[in-house]
Amino acid sequence: MRRWLSIAVASLVSCTAAAQLPDALKPFVKQDAPVLVLEHVRVIDGTGAPARDDQTVVIDHGKIASVSAQTANPNIPEGATVLDLTGKTVFPGLVGMHEHLFYPLPDGGPGLLPLYGEMADSAPRLYLAGGVTAARTAGSVEPYTDISVKQLIDAGRMPGPKLFLTSPYLEGSPAIGPQLHTLTGPDDAARLVNYWAAEGITSFKAYMHITPQELKAAIDAAHAHGLKITGHLCAVGFQEAAALGIDNLEHGLVVDTEFTPGKQEGVCPGQHEGQAALAKLDVEGPQIQGTIHDLIAHHVAVTSTLAIFESFVPNRPPMSEEMRVRASLLPDAWGSYTMTRAVIAEHADSSIAGRMLQMEMQFEHDFVKQGGMLMAGCDPTGYGGVLPGFGDQRNLELLAEAGFTPEEAIHIATENGAIWLGEDNHFGTIAAGKDADLVVVDGNPSKNIADVEKVDTVYKDGIGYDPQKLIASVRGLVGLR
Ligand SMILES: [Zn+2]
Repeated sequence: MRRWLSIAVASLVSCTAAAQLPDALKPFVKQDAPVLVLEHVRVIDGTGAPARDDQTVVIDHGKIASVSAQTANPNIPEGATVLDLTGKTVFPGLVGMHEHLFYPLPDGGPGLLPLYGEMADSAPRLYLAGGVTAARTAGSVEPYTDISVKQLIDAGRMPGPKLFLTSPYLEGSPAIGPQLHTLTGPDDAARLVNYWAAEGITSFKAYMHITPQELKAAIDAAHAHGLKITGHLCAVGFQEAAALGIDNLEHGLVVDTEFTPGKQEGVCPGQHEGQAALAKLDVEGPQIQGTIHDLIAHHVAVTSTLAIFESFVPNRPPMSEEMRVRASLLPDAWGSYTMTRAVIAEHADSSIAGRMLQMEMQFEHDFVKQGGMLMAGCDPTGYGGVLPGFGDQRNLELLAEAGFTPEEAIHIATENGAIWLGEDNHFGTIAAGKDADLVVVDGNPSKNIADVEKVDTVYKDGIGYDPQKLIASVRGLVGLR
């Protein structure tokens, strides 16, 4: 009788706990204990501090209650679920700062438009599976879908990261692609900022052909709402944008056109021309160092997107990286990716993409060492192959290749993004009082950064998601939906 009673009580307790977990999330959740203790775990806390072995992390109703050395014998709350994580490492959930919800549709062939498809099903799940628990969308092609997806995630009706929505592209003329609006002038730029702010968008994205006058109007309108604006610029150089008051520049040096000979004020000379000019410069020389100093003086953050640049370098990334994502892709999208990759490899002799990647890495390293604020994101665009979540992990590996310690790379991809978003009181580091947004991986990324790919569990607000179930649920869908 007593035995039956305790089973009844136990099932009552687990029902209570389960009742808090929405049905839509259940298929992906492996851990939803209200009080959870991670024991014997290595902690990389997101501040850039060295990894600490054999720690105890206590999670209480979605928040981190304490982090302490295992020997300190922390107060283990009554009834807590205790996990022995010997051999595993925990770091903060990634704060992805260039995380579109769209992806290039497979190449349609001659005469067809280049289109990006909204990946409302696959992108949120793959971000979460890859350890991204907060994501800024950094430019939208389907803003109302982005808004709906955020609402569904926040309501517990679908799995995904905490989304921080960015506006549709504020693009000048000619717009790159038919899915973007073409600004007609400064008034139009301010009008759009005001409109999207009213719709609940919390940051803005300026794009390649925006003019200095339009950018100034957009910056002033965004700041009037207390909101920030970033840009992937071309017609406006980096120092000019800093002087106009922009808050963040996407991609870094390789899209800066200010050193292109004969560049006309407010005109994009073309990204290829810009890069050809950059290739002749030395990152340690006075021109690029001058830009670094200027961005830091104006408190302009830079978002690192090394994974997308790597995809243009002949025979990079290693095919092992791509085999990892193959099953997630629509077969046509995989075919389209491999065809373009082959064309890039064929033109290896004349390619400057390898030099661009190396210069970008050097620029980002110098920028940080001199006090600049670097963040990271995966930017799942280009010609494909860089996928949500997977691309964020690859970016960490490339930051390490750029000379950052693994702990510094994780800091760039966690705490820095949280600070920019104004959310660092809630997430971005592993500390008492923060949201339990955590990534548990097998191995030790502080010794081998590639271990960030070995995700065991992703916690968002203390709910532990199974990455394999999230990935399996959208198998073959990237490039389709
Ligand atoms: Zn982008």
